[in-house]
Amino acid sequence: MTSDAEASLVRFAAHKLEALGADKLLRRLHPTQRGGDAGATRGGAALISFCDNDYLGLSQHPDVKSAAARAAMDYGAGAGASRLITGDCPLYARLEGDLAQMKGCEAALVFGSGYLANISTIPVLAGAGDAVFLDERAHACMFAGARLSGAAVESFAHNDADDLRRRLAGSNAARKLVLTETVFSMDGDRAPLSAIGEACAEADAWLMTDDAHGFGVVALDNPAPVQMGTLSKAVGAYGGYVCGPRAFIELLINRARGLIYTTGLPPPVLAAAIEALRLMRDEPERAARAMSNAALFSTRIGLGAPQSAVVPLILADAERALQASAALEREGLLVTAIRPPTVAVGTARLRFSFSAAHAPEDVARLADAVTRCVLAETSS
Ligand SMILES: *Cc1c(COP(=O)(O)O)cnc(C)c1O
Repeated sequence: MTSDAEASLVRFAAHKLEALGADKLLRRLHPTQRGGDAGATRGGAALISFCDNDYLGLSQHPDVKSAAARAAMDYGAGAGASRLITGDCPLYARLEGDLAQMKGCEAALVFGSGYLANISTIPVLAGAGDAVFLDERAHACMFAGARLSGAAVESFAHNDADDLRRRLAGSNAARKLVLTETVFSMDGDRAPLSAIGEACAEADAWLMTDDAHGFGVVALDNPAPVQMGTLSKAVGAYGGYVCGPRAFIELLINRARGLIYTTGLPPPVLAAAIEALRLMRDEPERAARAMSNAALFSTRIGLGAPQSAVVPLILADAERALQASAALEREGLLVTAIRPPTVAVGTARLRFSFSAAHAPEDVARLADAVTRCVLAETSS
């Protein structure tokens, strides 16, 4: 017999799920086997994926996979403890050295994920009495970090350095921290980093940027003293990083709760990231291929030149986005619908992401299917 507590838990969950279902916002997990060249098998069907963030195709690269396999044999499957106990595998020093060099920063610190990097770093930079200003479209984990910090949290209009400047001027917080993405995850547009950097300099505010969708794909001049990113997207592995002045990195080692109170990354993941960074440096044509695929698609469906490897097609309504996604899946093309709260209400969309692993013929096939199954249906 189930207890009253369990029964009330089940009623609570069922009630919440019913409301999500009514709004077409229910999410489900779909077992998906990813393979070489952007392939994905789901429910027995072979598809080409245009929705993952493996922009350079490195998660499937044979050299990256064998580096991970070798590290498993050399160091084991797991880290065994926090980095501050015995989990600081020698591969970390190599990986952090490479990251600092590639980002042009003094030092780098690797975290368990990009999410952990943000929620751990922001509370080190700001606390009670301080203020955090975020671009309104910044990633959920930047908002989570800002709220965890205990600072006052304010969002500024998307990519609007003047709005930011006004808000900074109106604040008398002890310290001011500004957070933005370099390339926005769901829109694919770039932040005006130099204008935002100037607004920060005028107000004596610190700028921290999230380069999750820029790193390895688009190189940007970035004035931010604190630059975070992830090893889970173009790098094709897993983990997050923060780059900045050495003194700040040392402070993070002493204060970042998501570094101190969590286990180090598995050594195979570190080895995969190191090898992927090598390929990023040695084979810059991969980034160029991802960008030219995004450009080919945008031209074919009549959009302007893309600013990154991410191209959104806004369909407004969540149900329409689901239907468009299902229509493409019937054509063998995997493009998950993006719905609120990931994006604002009324801006549900298909988010296409392009990779060095896509052949131009696949991209042309996608553009053709989008034209027939999504755009034609919209205009009728
Ligand atoms: C994916 C993403 C993260 C989180 O990175 P993970 O390594 O996947 O945890 C953080 N910020 C942005 C903008 C992202 O898109």
